[in-house]
Amino acid sequence: MKILAVSDQVQERIYTLASSGHFKEVELVIGCGDMPYAYLEYLVTMLNVQMFYVPGNHDPQYDLRNADSCAEGGINLDLKIVRHNKFLIGGFGGSVRYRPDGTNQYTQSDAYSRAILMLPRLLLNHLQYGRALDILISHSPPFGIHDDSDPAHNGLKALNWLLRIARPRYHFHGHIHLYKRNLENIETNFGLTKIINVYPYKTLEVSH
Ligand SMILES: [Zn+2]
Repeated sequence: MKILAVSDQVQERIYTLASSGHFKEVELVIGCGDMPYAYLEYLVTMLNVQMFYVPGNHDPQYDLRNADSCAEGGINLDLKIVRHNKFLIGGFGGSVRYRPDGTNQYTQSDAYSRAILMLPRLLLNHLQYGRALDILISHSPPFGIHDDSDPAHNGLKALNWLLRIARPRYHFHGHIHLYKRNLENIETNFGLTKIINVYPYKTLEVSH
């Protein structure tokens, strides 16, 4: 299954590539957060495929009564797990808390409490499919992997825990912008998982 994953920054190039058919083989769009929802909606409309996304720390709080708090045509996968095209895909939105009033921000212990909510479904998947998860989508990176030492860019330890118990083949995240000095923060193997920093976009063929 070919995936187009986007995060954090609008790329003007994407508009040209999408309209010229460059992504015609893409079967799934993944949004890793901090994206204007209009950008995600454009991609879904142009490519006419399923989209799953998680909110980032610069996205609005999801609110059922407010259409601007979600991306139309896509599914907010925060703390949810779905089966799509035989892939088990789970989402974990937000970043570490660095402002008391920040949206989609969690202390390390809040993040653990959230991750634990995914446990029943992961266990059910294990019983039903022999594996808990294939793809994890998050905004934040795990702690100590692709993250940064400044308070806003510490990774979430709950994600390391999730990766250890769910053992997905792929973990897509955003939040960490790449500069010349941190170009090593693109792809890391963690146990069975390939951890991919999506910023600003990536296409990848995933397999079981
Ligand atoms: Zn972010």
